[in-house]
Amino acid sequence: MPPPTIRVDAAQEEDRYSRLRLIPWWDQEKIRAAKVLVIGAGALGNEILKNLALLGFHNIVVVDLDHIETSNLSRAILFRASDVGRSKADTVATAYEALLPEATVRPLTANVMQDCGLGLFAWADLILAGLDNREARLWINRCAWKVNRPWIDGAIEGINGVARAFLPGHAPCYECTLGATDWAILDRRMSCNLLLHEAHTEGRVPTTPTISSIIGGIQVQEAVKLLHGMPTLASKGYIFEGLHHTSYVVNYTENPDCLSHYILENVVQIPESSSALTLEQLRSRASADLGTDEVVLEFSRDIIHKLVCPTCREEEACFVPVGAIRYDRGRCPRDGAMRVVKTLSGYRGEPELAARRLDQLGLPLFDIFTARYGDAEISYSLAGDAPAVLGPLAAPSLSEVAP
Ligand SMILES: [Zn+2]
Ligand SMILES: [Zn+2]
Repeated sequence: MPPPTIRVDAAQEEDRYSRLRLIPWWDQEKIRAAKVLVIGAGALGNEILKNLALLGFHNIVVVDLDHIETSNLSRAILFRASDVGRSKADTVATAYEALLPEATVRPLTANVMQDCGLGLFAWADLILAGLDNREARLWINRCAWKVNRPWIDGAIEGINGVARAFLPGHAPCYECTLGATDWAILDRRMSCNLLLHEAHTEGRVPTTPTISSIIGGIQVQEAVKLLHGMPTLASKGYIFEGLHHTSYVVNYTENPDCLSHYILENVVQIPESSSALTLEQLRSRASADLGTDEVVLEFSRDIIHKLVCPTCREEEACFVPVGAIRYDRGRCPRDGAMRVVKTLSGYRGEPELAARRLDQLGLPLFDIFTARYGDAEISYSLAGDAPAVLGPLAAPSLSEVAP
């Protein structure tokens, strides 16, 4: 006889996952405890999240900038007709918690390239992406490598699709797979002076709910295998061709010049938030930690520092992410000349920047700053920003890293 004190909710949970537990290697606790970052809440993201909820993943952050349009309803199981106009991230979070009330889903209506700090990537045990553009994939790939987190990509078009897994430290990576055509498409997005040339026109790829279901299913199954230490699609691609139901696995080739192959060596969590530190205060700490005054503090990404007019020489200070300024805004308001973009990639002790707070740079919250002197390197993750970004998911994450 089982002990009569067994809690009803535990019994229900036991029952809920009883068919999954029949799989010999299955570990429901691993799945429950995993922290998953889902980027994209469109056709693929919906399928990914639906699968994660059914499998019992409890800790989810979902990032998507968009709002629901009527055309999304044909491919998104978590959207209702009444959701048109709502944030995709908010909507899937609500739907997820309706499927699995024990879960905590943190929705971020955000641009992953501009608004998500490296700390968010580092929080996750694994990253699942359902995106429609190469630029965001390339960015995720570089971030995932820096903080040493696996990511699983999916791509769909028509009734065909591909799923692949990338593990930092194990090239080939996503960037290694990019060919000349991919780079040409990537280059077209940005003008030569780093201002955004045109509205985002990707995202009108023809897709069906059936192919998103197939590829989203493979992605989440890869995630489950990865968590259990099973063989995965690491550095390989699963290609599904829907017309004849043929599928095969491709091997990619490592690019020795790939810029993504870099893992931050020494990431230290510091309790401060980005509003509590100036550039000089953080650089002073790094100088003490690295034992030299010649420290360079690198940002996680370049920012647009100022726009400078070549005609009247007027300067406009910006401190915004690259990609945040449209091409037409680049013209000088006085004389219409196209201004030159000055970017900033770090801080070397310039007096005019010293007193600037870390939250006044155009960098996202919960980011990581890397201090460097020669080969010596130390990175600081601003854990004080975690509650603002992770919401209710921040608390367990912080207590785990406490000494
Ligand atoms: Zn690579
Ligand atoms: Zn001017």
